[in-house]
Amino acid sequence: MKIIAIGLNYSDHAKEFNSPALSEPMVFMKPDTALLRNNKPFFLPDFSNEIHYETEVIVKIDRLGKNISEKFAHRYYSQIGIGIDFTARDLQNIQRTKGNPWEICKSFDASAAVSEFYPIEEFGDLRNLNFHLDIDGKTVQKGSTKDMIFNIDKIIAYISRFFTLKIGDIIFTGTPVGVGKVERNNRLQAYIENKLLLDFKIK
Ligand code: MG
Repeated sequence: MKIIAIGLNYSDHAKEFNSPALSEPMVFMKPDTALLRNNKPFFLPDFSNEIHYETEVIVKIDRLGKNISEKFAHRYYSQIGIGIDFTARDLQNIQRTKGNPWEICKSFDASAAVSEFYPIEEFGDLRNLNFHLDIDGKTVQKGSTKDMIFNIDKIIAYISRFFTLKIGDIIFTGTPVGVGKVERNNRLQAYIENKLLLDFKIK
């Protein structure tokens, strides 16, 4: 399986990075070794002093597809969850300055924490879902899918022009404003609406 992630998909977050609004989705990938499942702890890696959380709605692909039209994109997924796109921000700033690819700052081991997946019907309107992250009981980031620049169907249509989507692939749909650093012993709890989906510690 592969993990496809969208960057800068919320304009307030893009502003936080002094990036202009995009006319097409910005895409990067993480390998399967990036997966962190079952609320296992995230171990701070030795190559970064600034690991940031990015809380994102995630989508699981359940049908093989290529060149999927936006109109039919909804047929390719039926479950969503929440994930943390862990980012080594200090390394990313260096990579951005050099114009280098992002793999070492975005795609390292355990950089994709994912919840279980749940049927979409449990949540209501996908285009208007509230989600948030608490650290040690305090809300640090919150967003709504209504503020996405590219919605889930647009993302699927776009990325499937380049990559065949396979059953089990996961899409990270981008993070809203309010990213920040995690510290050892933090407890991260991520919610869609009021449903706690992800609950794990930083070690
Ligand atoms: Mg992200």
